Amino acid sequence: MIIPPPAQPPARVLMGPGPSDVHPAVLQALSRPTLGHLDPAFLTIMDETRAMLRTAFGTENRVTIPMSGTGTAGMETCMANLVAPGDRVLIGANGVFAPRLAEMAKRQGGEVVLVEGEWGRSIPMETLRAAANGRRFKLIAAVHAETSSGALQDLSGLRALADELGALTVVDAVTSLAGLPVDVDARGLDAVYSGTQKCLSCPPGLAPVTLSDRAMAAVGARAIPPTSWYLDLALVGRYWGAERAYHHTAPVNMVYALHEALRLTLIEGLEARYARHARHGAALAAGLEAMGLALPVPPAERMPQLTPVLIPDGIEDKAVRGALLANYGLEIGGGLGPMKGRVWRIGLMGAASGRRNVTLCLSALSTTLQGLGFTPKGDALAAAAEQYSAAGPG
Ligand SMILES: *Cc1c(COP(=O)(O)O)cnc(C)c1O
Repeated sequence: MIIPPPAQPPARVLMGPGPSDVHPAVLQALSRPTLGHLDPAFLTIMDETRAMLRTAFGTENRVTIPMSGTGTAGMETCMANLVAPGDRVLIGANGVFAPRLAEMAKRQGGEVVLVEGEWGRSIPMETLRAAANGRRFKLIAAVHAETSSGALQDLSGLRALADELGALTVVDAVTSLAGLPVDVDARGLDAVYSGTQKCLSCPPGLAPVTLSDRAMAAVGARAIPPTSWYLDLALVGRYWGAERAYHHTAPVNMVYALHEALRLTLIEGLEARYARHARHGAALAAGLEAMGLALPVPPAERMPQLTPVLIPDGIEDKAVRGALLANYGLEIGGGLGPMKGRVWRIGLMGAASGRRNVTLCLSALSTTLQGLGFTPKGDALAAAAEQYSAAGPG
């Protein structure tokens, strides 16, 4: 065979739904020497990573572990360990990720009640309560920041509803962690999973999860082990816990990357990081609306790190995304599910949430749309600048 040259990924600006641009210090961390997964120096790095993860999640949960795999592995960790055959699971859906949770719960033998909320809207707790219809549940699950639809789920009231139903709470924080407060303990969340490739500005490859003692008691009380050996928390926990028993080889260099991403997050400060996401998300939204583009999610239910925008009539999705990539090296996301071909999804996640990217995206999109015959209503950059000055110094 002809051996290809080394892989040469082109320079891009990643402003889609993830992966997001990786911070250079995180890329450097990846290239440090691989250690044995039981090397004392690596064990220290593991412990530091877990401690920083607890802070980012807002929890003191003993079981706080980066699982090997992407965000979906975190999702499956929660479903495989917490759902046993016959368990009732209540899931609120306002995008594509809740049906994925439902499918995983079903594969564990769970009896799933999937509540179809409005795409792109926060699901009212009353809707979930009505669907529960007085029955008891093992789990109630919600997606905090629905990257597919742009809906920010209001989590207040979730704990109270779970207590009424006798349920544990499961929350998808893949896109919210490090971009919005997750506040695991303050909100009384029992099992929360995330991913490294969104607001942590780390490559895809690890799925941080955290489980309350109550959730771990449910795992411990299982009559039969989870169907997944790889994601079995009782086994994985023996490696990440005091025993350090071999289960599978940790992706050592990815742990370095997460360690660095968490360090950068905590050095910036969680509150400052949330404020930065809010600031740039608002400026992007102002610019898009000034252009005459419609944002399908109502202002109170938007998240700053991912903004869906309706594709104007007569404009073809792929032509625009293709031109942005070819002419500016800029990646934005297309729609998923019912929104395929109808929206673009613009991410401002982690290190990438900044004025330079807001400006690049608004001007590149405006120029590209004009080339295709769409006349922007107003000046996007001026509207963004106005939003920045209204928000005050950042
Ligand atoms: C990206 C994402 C996932 C899945 O994560 P992968 O890294 O693609 O496995 C799950 N839930 C939400 C809300 C996401 O944004």
